[in-house]
Amino acid sequence: MNCIYCGGSIKGMPEDIQYSLDDLAKFISRDKEAIVAFYGGEPLLKIDRVIEMLSLPAQKFVLQTNGFFIQKLGDYIHRFDAILLSIDGRKEITDFYRGKGCYDKVMEALKFLKENEYEGEIIARMTVSYKTDIYKDVMHLLKFFPYVHWQLDVVWSNLWSWKEFKKWAEESYKPGIKKLIKFWIEGIAKGNVAGIVPFLGIMKRILHGERGLPCQAGEKAFAISTDGKILACPIAYDFEWNLLGDFKNYKRIRIGGECLKCDVYEICGGRCLFFNKEKLWGEEGFKEVCNVTKFLINELMKYKDLCKKSKYKFNYPEYNNTTEIVP
Ligand code: SF4
Ligand code: SF4
Repeated sequence: MNCIYCGGSIKGMPEDIQYSLDDLAKFISRDKEAIVAFYGGEPLLKIDRVIEMLSLPAQKFVLQTNGFFIQKLGDYIHRFDAILLSIDGRKEITDFYRGKGCYDKVMEALKFLKENEYEGEIIARMTVSYKTDIYKDVMHLLKFFPYVHWQLDVVWSNLWSWKEFKKWAEESYKPGIKKLIKFWIEGIAKGNVAGIVPFLGIMKRILHGERGLPCQAGEKAFAISTDGKILACPIAYDFEWNLLGDFKNYKRIRIGGECLKCDVYEICGGRCLFFNKEKLWGEEGFKEVCNVTKFLINELMKYKDLCKKSKYKFNYPEYNNTTEIVP
């Protein structure tokens, strides 16, 4: 599809799986609470492989998909605990980033899930870049999806520099976030909690003290490349720090550097391991992204007491459903 914010396929990783399913099953069975998530590229391009892997000894299965081939899964949809559909907001925004017709395909996929009474979580999974109006795009998706999550197109973006990001953040993103939080909090006061994943996940960390890197990459979450390597983060195939080992031997890796001294570290957890390790936008770009992260956390902090008093438990997500929480 060549979505414009993406760098395309990962060079050097074989297209087909090189390890045996038995070896993978043995590896996974060491974790009694294993969650297996399929991501890509587009995992359903290899739909037979995905179906075969639903026999793995995992407690939960998660699927991240563009929705184009979901109908081919048939009743297998019910085997997934969460399905994340990639959609970036309003039709013109989604189709601008991801290609013409993409929005309609995702909406067809959503209709298919609803018509087939899918009972797992359905999450709209957005990438947010310079065309996005965070308030309008999230509000649009909330009309159709129970949960909406987004990730910022920063640091390894194809589309803009940190200076352009900074301008957009001040003029568009931060005011939009304020408006969105206002909407969310007004809902909570009336007992109606909108499924805005970054807000839910950050509030959970504020109220219940959950710590560590939210995506858990390198510590509790691992990506397995097609050649059977264990990676911390799925997107950084060719970075040495990211290669943790193989099914037999592997190490773990943690956030380091300035995050450990940061005043919001307890809540932020370091945001993203790749971001922490590779400063592709330099020190200034790193600071600008952190500025936005701190803004979001501090805005939500203002409503800590109100949320504490609410009947809602703020326990979302209950497991690692691959939403990285801090955008
Ligand atoms: S805001 Fe930035 S420096 Fe602070 S913990 Fe998060 S990623 Fe690290
Ligand atoms: S949040 Fe960052 S470290 Fe975690 S999986 Fe995503 S890209 Fe990798």
